[in-house]
Amino acid sequence: MAAGYCCDDLREQVEFRCEDHPDPYDCADNLVIKTERGYFGLIIHDGGSSHLVIQFFPWCGSRLPSPPEERRGAAMSGWWPRAEPLHS
Ligand SMILES: [Zn+2]
Ligand SMILES: [Zn+2]
Repeated sequence: MAAGYCCDDLREQVEFRCEDHPDPYDCADNLVIKTERGYFGLIIHDGGSSHLVIQFFPWCGSRLPSPPEERRGAAMSGWWPRAEPLHS
């Protein structure tokens, strides 16, 4: 298991790049990114470069590092993360 990742599935999702789209925001096959702040996000494929910070990795359900402002209320969020759009 790689450091910083709950499991190899997360690492594979973050590190996945297809040959056609070096920018993960351009590729519909790229689902998960690691942000510059060290948080994980689901890519929103709306033609821009936005993502939703996630508190849990949907594949395995593990808790992920999340911004302090996201962590408040985490107990209420259940399995699927409460997420806010970030525009980087
Ligand atoms: Zn995991
Ligand atoms: Zn692609």
